[in-house]
Amino acid sequence: MTLPTATDVMELMRGVIDPELGSNLVELGMARSAQVSEDGEVLIKIALTTSGCPLRSQIQRDVKARLESLPGVTKVRILWDELTAEEKTAAMTTARFNVSQQAPDTAIPSTTKVLMVASGKGGVGKSTVTTNLAAALAAQGFKVGVMDADIWGYSVPRMLGVDGDLRSVEGKIVPITRHVGEGRLDVVSMGFLVDREDSALMWRGLMLNRAVQHFCEDVAWSDDLDYLLIDMPPGTGDVQMGLAKMLPRAEMIVVTTPAVAAQKVAARVVDMGRKNYLRIVGVIENMSALTTETGEQHAVFGSGGGESLAAEVGAPLLGKIPLEAAVSDGSDRGEPAVLDSNGAAAAAFASVAEALSSEHVPPVEMAGCSARMLDAAAAALDALDSLDALDADTAASSKG
Ligand code: ADP
Repeated sequence: MTLPTATDVMELMRGVIDPELGSNLVELGMARSAQVSEDGEVLIKIALTTSGCPLRSQIQRDVKARLESLPGVTKVRILWDELTAEEKTAAMTTARFNVSQQAPDTAIPSTTKVLMVASGKGGVGKSTVTTNLAAALAAQGFKVGVMDADIWGYSVPRMLGVDGDLRSVEGKIVPITRHVGEGRLDVVSMGFLVDREDSALMWRGLMLNRAVQHFCEDVAWSDDLDYLLIDMPPGTGDVQMGLAKMLPRAEMIVVTTPAVAAQKVAARVVDMGRKNYLRIVGVIENMSALTTETGEQHAVFGSGGGESLAAEVGAPLLGKIPLEAAVSDGSDRGEPAVLDSNGAAAAAFASVAEALSSEHVPPVEMAGCSARMLDAAAAALDALDSLDALDADTAASSKG
């Protein structure tokens, strides 16, 4: 197994965002250096704005999760450091500059966890998994965005039972919302822009790329969004690569079927993710054996695919969703099975969502330090500006 290089490690740190400053650790100068030893131990030096930063555990979790998802990494050690006064100023300047420039992914709040749901080929249930996980997270009380980037085969609006026309406010697209218990789904899809499901096919490749870019840059994603789930187009084409580059902080979930033979194409998607330094959260096997009322198991699409892909790519198997009529029925009626059924598939979706929010991809917990510093820095600058103005006034009046 080839070990990641120090450069790989640093590139991966571009995916870790300081949730308050909204920029990544490399840009902010917080990820200082990395070493990878022959036994797979990664030593990384991270400098925080203040050593007692309450965001430390948040950043630590994110750094570890990303590094531990790399094949060959056996241990991750973080050496904590503190930015010097000059470095802090530079970090704040970078953060402010990025905010003012609206860096490509800044329309998505820095406190939102971005999950790409990907698959090697179509028809494996990627949209079904995206919509059920989104609904399950919303049912847990989270605010969940759903971006339907499967432009050619968009089916998210139908599956989630949301309909309507996308409005734009101040030049930004406003997602269509569905409330689920305490939580919420904010949905954006091509389906809201074209009249009929088959007319999307007439859109040309280039325009499709642009459409996805707009979904990242020009959607008014709400500030309180905990998660954004992206239903990716199947495979590894231009749209997928574009998204991976646009959203280095995204983490990837790969959906596959139980047929062992189909794993090659799924493994390619993992490869693409890793080449773009995205963290691979894990694999979900969909359309697993269905269990009859009498307890008989029918492995319609074979078995072992999820385990074999997970082992091959070195990522955990997050769950297996059985083949079940309640799942397709639910999608057809716009009521995701996870909200509407007591069956085994609904339970499997709920337990994957639970594991995501409690273990694999916990939501960002905000506990301020940098933002307070940013405010303090801004106040100091304002004070300086008014002092300058005062000086100028004094100079002018003494001249006059
Ligand atoms: P993809 O997004 O990968 O193209 P879809 O989510 O559209 O796939 O699913 C393809 C078809 O399979 C849909 O008709 C869907 O309802 C059905 N389906 C997906 N998963 C299941 C499942 N676990 N049980 C029953 N039907 C399923």
